[in-house]
Amino acid sequence: MSAAQCPCCPNTLVSISITISGERRTMRSCSRCGYRGWYAGDSTDRLERIALSGVLDEISDERRANAPRRSDPLSIAGR
Ligand SMILES: [Zn+2]
Repeated sequence: MSAAQCPCCPNTLVSISITISGERRTMRSCSRCGYRGWYAGDSTDRLERIALSGVLDEISDERRANAPRRSDPLSIAGR
């Protein structure tokens, strides 16, 4: 893992990589100022900053995919 400097202070960010729906996502956080950022990909130098809401959408999508399948989504939407 490559160390990255916090954009808000001189501290070094801590990187945590997780896999969501088969995609690598890296969360970088700063223990000094509380900065937190999500990035697409693994902890390489070419990380792309992504919005936290996008990550949360992916997590909820994965939960939905792992949940027991409902028979017909249209019948549920009609209620
Ligand atoms: Zn910081």
